[in-house]
Amino acid sequence: MSGSGTHTEEVGPPTIDGTAPHSARIYDWWLGGKDNFAVDRAVGEAMISAIPTLRQMASENRRFVHRVARHLVAEAGIRQFLDIGTGIPTQPNLHEIAQSIAPDTRVVYVDNDPIVLAHARALMISTKEGRSSYIHADLRQPEAILRDATLLDTLDLTRPVALTLIAVLMLLRDDDDPVGTLQILMDALPSGSYLAITHPTQDFNPEEMSTAVAAATRGGMTLVPRTRAEVEQFFAGWELIEPGLAPVMAWRPDSGAPTDPYAAYYWAGVARKP
Ligand code: SAH
Repeated sequence: MSGSGTHTEEVGPPTIDGTAPHSARIYDWWLGGKDNFAVDRAVGEAMISAIPTLRQMASENRRFVHRVARHLVAEAGIRQFLDIGTGIPTQPNLHEIAQSIAPDTRVVYVDNDPIVLAHARALMISTKEGRSSYIHADLRQPEAILRDATLLDTLDLTRPVALTLIAVLMLLRDDDDPVGTLQILMDALPSGSYLAITHPTQDFNPEEMSTAVAAATRGGMTLVPRTRAEVEQFFAGWELIEPGLAPVMAWRPDSGAPTDPYAAYYWAGVARKP
């Protein structure tokens, strides 16, 4: 492990609550992980009843992360990532993909769930040339993320950074102002930086998605699917690279166009700051 750090603004380690469902653990369960509780599996199962292919959709998100990391490092020359809403570590993690191409790549991971903090060590096993670090922080407080000592120690904000928000913005309600929040992060990055987002949508199958939202809400979870136009707003002022905002399965697929790109109900896009 090289140059890693954790940071929390709370006093003492935040405690893991097994009595309420958490998105990181539900997502882990969908991906076949073991870091989840009965309460997470109950909501996860109810959502699968609404959308039977939800597990595959979670895997499609992971595959998108891999394709984006490979593209940005190998073709766009990116060597720094800020990944917010990282989730429980899932091999290969973003920094492992990036560092397998460019070992000197630096990655800062951010999540606000104590269970992710508990597993953060796995996110900080970096190449010796590069660096990866973890910050326990909330996306809804972007200024705190940007002035975090661990972030400033790991990333050089005068050089391009890829900001990745994979399957996380749907956990912010409109009154959390996700567009304004993201704008603060985007404004802090220099020209040549990138933004990658995946976001669940009602556009492909409104009935299934609204049943899933109802199941999430009953379980006490926030889930806000957004339309194409709403997801496009997140990229405002930045230039979407080819193929633009696309169904996640259709964003630069590895092996030709998928038979049904609308089978995973997520929009995905990558944009460059001019
Ligand atoms: N990006 C990962 C995990 C997605 S699950 C992947 O695609 O594989 C969503 C993650 O976002 C969870 O780990 C959850 O804890 C985190 N999260 C939710 N709200 C957050 C917030 N306000 N700030 C930071 N992280 C958040």
